Amino acid sequence: MGSPEVGGCDCNEVRRHLWPYLDRETDPPTCAELEAHLEECSHCRRMVEFDQSFKRLVRRCADAEPVPPSVVETLRTRVEAVIRIRQLPST
Ligand SMILES: [Zn+2]
Repeated sequence: MGSPEVGGCDCNEVRRHLWPYLDRETDPPTCAELEAHLEECSHCRRMVEFDQSFKRLVRRCADAEPVPPSVVETLRTRVEAVIRIRQLPST
């Protein structure tokens, strides 16, 4: 409703399936639709890239047993760096 529909699904759909998609738990037809949408929609592509790096950080964090404060600090710095990259004009 109101959101542009590209590649067979809209941005809300992509957001809804984002984490299962990143975990490769999405069924193949949905996965294909999401990928078709991502081809066309740079907004969702950025969202996927961001969540992908965020998930990687979380996973790395979850692997370590007790998380030392320095790791938390590193994660925060990296997440902030990613956010900063997203805000830069795409030139
Ligand atoms: Zn989109």
